[in-house]
Amino acid sequence: MKRKYRIAGAAAVLAAALLSLTACGSFGTSAEPVSRQVIAMTTVMNIKAYGKNAEKGLDDSEKEINRLDRLLSVGSSTSAVSKLNAAGGGTVNADIDTLLKKSLSVYKSTGGAFDITVYPLMNLWGFTKVYNENDELDQNKPRDIPTAAQITQALTTVGSNRIQYDAASRTLTLPAGTQIDFGGIAKGYTSQRIVDIMKKDGVTAGNIELGGNVQVFGTKPDKSPWTIGLTDPNKTSRTMGVLTLTKGRAVVTSGGYERYITGKDGKRYHHILDPKTGYPADSDLKSVTIVCKDGTTADALSTAMFVLGKDKATAYWRHHSGTFQMIMMDSQKRIWVTSGLKGQVQSDRYKIRVISRGNK
Ligand code: ADP
Ligand code: MG
Repeated sequence: MKRKYRIAGAAAVLAAALLSLTACGSFGTSAEPVSRQVIAMTTVMNIKAYGKNAEKGLDDSEKEINRLDRLLSVGSSTSAVSKLNAAGGGTVNADIDTLLKKSLSVYKSTGGAFDITVYPLMNLWGFTKVYNENDELDQNKPRDIPTAAQITQALTTVGSNRIQYDAASRTLTLPAGTQIDFGGIAKGYTSQRIVDIMKKDGVTAGNIELGGNVQVFGTKPDKSPWTIGLTDPNKTSRTMGVLTLTKGRAVVTSGGYERYITGKDGKRYHHILDPKTGYPADSDLKSVTIVCKDGTTADALSTAMFVLGKDKATAYWRHHSGTFQMIMMDSQKRIWVTSGLKGQVQSDRYKIRVISRGNK
């Protein structure tokens, strides 16, 4: 069995590790965190915890990751989500209730850019096969891409407006052919759950890195700020900049550079789809990073803002600017940072432009 794990973010981890080493230089002392690597959701996950309850926090985090993986994985026919898809709905548990509410709310607020019903399209494009645990396809191997007729057909099942969800009875109803996938939000939900669990366990600070999803909380023993490397979409082995945070935040990145398939036409087709066209989102962004308190929101918004592109994402931020901040790299290799992060992003390589609430 050949599995493909997501290693993007490795540059980010390395940069952050180097920075924190030089910043505190406390190797091998009690100020050092304990850490754990978990492989789940086709992602390499690295979790660090500080304080005397750190080991318990890591044990509980690992259990939670495995529980959520079993619940949400569309790659496994026994997951709760796969069963809902097969049965056309059913009663859902508390996790799926939270995920559905957030997904449907971001669907509405983004005019349908974030849409969990893209799953039949993901299947049609073959993204699910490339990343399926038993599949051996390579993302650089030239493959057939769907025909326009196949996409038109699949689009007849796509649209979260087709979903009926009764939150009071936690009952989901999916019309024939409509299927859901929490791939655009599951890792953010998972990191949020881990933060909540670790806090309850008495962990004093932690850094959760689930591929491109990062979430930090608490204060480190040496009180140094959190530094998070931002992967450079132009060369994923390095960082485009570093974000400094003094408070706990989720930092979630979406981009077209990481997961893709290659068509026989030699073109790359990335895995973030425009639910309106059925094709990979024709975004003028290379990557977008959302910074906010809640991991679940950050993840849904990162996918949605990538689909919307720079101008619409900027307009959305202006409309909701109390709730999140954003770092974008556009197709001209310019970094744009919303005003709430002014001074918190440093880059040696790229010029940083600040987006204020009023000006472009
Ligand atoms: P990653 O999974 O690489 O962190 P994202 O958070 O942007 O990146 O999620 C991409 C995943 O979300 C896809 O693999 C697919 O499962 C799902 N997806 C793709 N397009 C959309 C969309 N427009 N809305 C919601 N989910 C999407
Ligand atoms: Mg996302």
